[in-house]
Amino acid sequence: MKKYPLTEHRWQQIINNDTQSNFYYGVTTTKIFCKPSCHSRNPLRDNVLIFKEVGEAIDAGFRPCKRCQPTGEVTNYDWVSEIKTYLDNNYQRKLDLTTISEECHGSPFNLQRTFKNESGLTPRQYLTEIRLNKSKNLLQTTDLSIKSIALRVGFSSDTYFITVFKRHFMQTPDSFRLQKL
Ligand SMILES: [Zn+2]
Repeated sequence: MKKYPLTEHRWQQIINNDTQSNFYYGVTTTKIFCKPSCHSRNPLRDNVLIFKEVGEAIDAGFRPCKRCQPTGEVTNYDWVSEIKTYLDNNYQRKLDLTTISEECHGSPFNLQRTFKNESGLTPRQYLTEIRLNKSKNLLQTTDLSIKSIALRVGFSSDTYFITVFKRHFMQTPDSFRLQKL
């Protein structure tokens, strides 16, 4: 998978935002790729893949960064679908707007506004929908306790999970589970 080595020189170019470099780098945890000159947060070195051409990054499943735009303009639509992919893959983690913005390469204000304009939901609402859908699936297909399901899908506690679940579906997770048996 690692076609080009991450040499010390390349690494220095990435962390110093060098504008003279002739490569791109992708971050495996976010699946976003950047020019070394990008002012996004420095990645962990182990998560970096080097590409010589934009096409190589895209073929490997990476998407262009909204901030440094390695392929030319990244539309809001494309960016929001990047953010959704990121949330779909990371919903189990504790995520706040700052973390999401850092990892998806935008400012919190701009990310929140753009996401809402494009999808009609805030990132938090979108995240809650993913979590609730995953929890329904676990309630139907496993014997896990309510508490483990809550934590597994990314809620901070079982009481919070139950509150949100009731608000959305007008029933408790327990009654949802019983009804399906
Ligand atoms: Zn970038």
